[in-house]
Amino acid sequence: LPFRSRKPAWFKVPRPGSAKYRELSKTIADEGLHTVCKEAACPNIGDCWDRGTATFMILGDTCTRRCGFCNVKTGKPTWNDPLEPLRVARSVARMGLRHAVITSVDRDDLPDYGASVWCGVIRSVRMQAPLTKIECLTPDFRGEEMPLARVIAERPDVFNHNLEVAPRLYPVARRGSTWKRSLRVLANAQEMGEGEVATKSGLMVGLGETHEELVDAFGQMREAGVQILTVGQYLRPTERHLPVVRYWEPEEFKALETAAYDLGFEHVAAGPLVRSSYHADEHFPQDQPG
Ligand code: SF4
Ligand code: SF4
Repeated sequence: LPFRSRKPAWFKVPRPGSAKYRELSKTIADEGLHTVCKEAACPNIGDCWDRGTATFMILGDTCTRRCGFCNVKTGKPTWNDPLEPLRVARSVARMGLRHAVITSVDRDDLPDYGASVWCGVIRSVRMQAPLTKIECLTPDFRGEEMPLARVIAERPDVFNHNLEVAPRLYPVARRGSTWKRSLRVLANAQEMGEGEVATKSGLMVGLGETHEELVDAFGQMREAGVQILTVGQYLRPTERHLPVVRYWEPEEFKALETAAYDLGFEHVAAGPLVRSSYHADEHFPQDQPG
């Protein structure tokens, strides 16, 4: 559970408990899968699962990197699960998801950084749940173009790679990754998608960055062709993680959103509770009921 520091009132959300939420929990447990929604104790779980959006974590639960804000286990992964693509696809179909977000830990230990599993998952979901939109939230594949090209060739609806924090904070918050490399991944994905794959990225605030730094970062993202942006408040998972420098006010998020739209993003979600996959289905307005 997230570290219990004193948080502003706007973080209070109702506890999940609808029939739909219980049904989805059961499906995921039956298939032995992991969702970021549950593992990260995401505060939006009731809302998202009711709307038919969930985020699956593939390629195991152990990451080969160690970011200062992240609560995922790190170390030497032992995962070996050839049936994972099938089980993810079966769950997406059973859950009747409108929008499935797939993400993974970084697998710098694998020769293809996990790209073949990514491709298998996209293909299986397409087969078993053809109407579901697929969003891939991938690692940087160490900046190598071949694994990225393979994933983009599967034509997910959205390619998402989070830049996570403002460029200046990389040395403290994101050791093992670089801002430039991640930006290049997004630019490459945009080019490889040939207009058929929307590109998306996200940043967290609350780690010491300024409004100006963020707007500058947004500008760089636009130059890399990023179309969809999410900005949310960092919450410290445990006392071992980087502290929250400050909680941004809802009006400050509004100002960031306005600045981002001014720079030309097609869709922006900015707010204290916004996570990379929060209301991800809204990026496809044509799918909205009514
Ligand atoms: Fe899951 Fe993302 Fe929604 Fe959180 S914001 S509940 S991780 S889909
Ligand atoms: Fe967490 Fe991703 Fe960093 Fe791994 S690379 S520690 S999963 S944020």
